[in-house]
Amino acid sequence: MQTTSPTKLATLIRADGQRFASLKRQIVQLDYFCKGTLLQRRMKCGHKQCACHRDPAKRHGPYFECTYKVHNKTVNLRLHPAVTPLYRAAIQQSRKLKSLLGRMERLSRQALAHLAQQRLLGRH
Ligand SMILES: [Zn+2]
Repeated sequence: MQTTSPTKLATLIRADGQRFASLKRQIVQLDYFCKGTLLQRRMKCGHKQCACHRDPAKRHGPYFECTYKVHNKTVNLRLHPAVTPLYRAAIQQSRKLKSLLGRMERLSRQALAHLAQQRLLGRH
């Protein structure tokens, strides 16, 4: 670990704290989240005479499915078009949460290193 002056260290520690507080505020603002992906599907209907059975381009839809895992089992949730935006937003929130947690973890490692350095400096 390289040595830093106590004043510089105090400035870094203050900056770490401010950045961490800002990330925490962003976590608090999150809305319902759902880990998963949206799949777009086009389906064949039950009528054998329908064009969808001959031509893949004439299949019905698109219909959306939300896919996620619960206890290692994949869940496919068929979504009505009216509720698709709800799940699209929740998936976005989940990605944001994951990114925020990653940033908080990296920042925490850095902040802990700064605090450790400060504590060791105080021992001299
Ligand atoms: Zn059809």
